[in-house]
Amino acid sequence: MTAPESRQARLLDAVLADVEAAPGAQVVFDLDDTLFSTARRHLRILREFAELVESADPEAAGLLRAIDRESLRYSVVDTVRGAGLREALAKDLREFWFARFFQNRYLLEDDVVSGAPAYCEEVAARGGTVVYMTGRDEGMRAGTEESLARHGFPKPGEASARLILKPTFDAPDFAFKAEALARVKAAGRVAASFENEPAHVNLFRETFPAARHFLLETKHSGRPVLPHPDVHRIQDFRR
Ligand SMILES: [Mg+2]
Repeated sequence: MTAPESRQARLLDAVLADVEAAPGAQVVFDLDDTLFSTARRHLRILREFAELVESADPEAAGLLRAIDRESLRYSVVDTVRGAGLREALAKDLREFWFARFFQNRYLLEDDVVSGAPAYCEEVAARGGTVVYMTGRDEGMRAGTEESLARHGFPKPGEASARLILKPTFDAPDFAFKAEALARVKAAGRVAASFENEPAHVNLFRETFPAARHFLLETKHSGRPVLPHPDVHRIQDFRR
């Protein structure tokens, strides 16, 4: 039996070969929990909330500080409930989190999913176009561009990479991605897409049936949607 790691490597290499065979082919990448891990961003906000409540409620602060990467759930409220934080504080935390998680300076806290920058560089080196398509909105452009640059991803705005953000914060992610995919389709061939949300990866597959589609098994919203059986599941971008 083939080890999962080599299966992943083979699939990732196959995309690169497709790109090389069709210069200019686009490869679409989601950002949060696809190219970037949001774990450190979540943990920083939890630490800051712990500092805020420390004097009034040292026990709650202790519970918050004990949360580590492994105990993070998709929803921050589920994370703190799981840690035993009482409901009233969980509600306050939700507001505190919401006011920070989408701020440019917090985006810089993210680290990358293993192998992601090198893989995107390789797509560009083989003549492909890297398309970053994210539910982040235009207000998050500065932090997103800085974060991509810091981690050595191909720079959007140059020939080999484009960044597509939501026009406004309130636009629903799924509707935005459907509309943005129509634009990607108009721009030419798509070789592959990478996503962590099953509903989104299924949409990509319907839009580009000839391409390869990948679900990153990082984390997702928990909506009861299964990825189509044709979708490849991978852990990260290591080859
Ligand atoms: Mg995502």
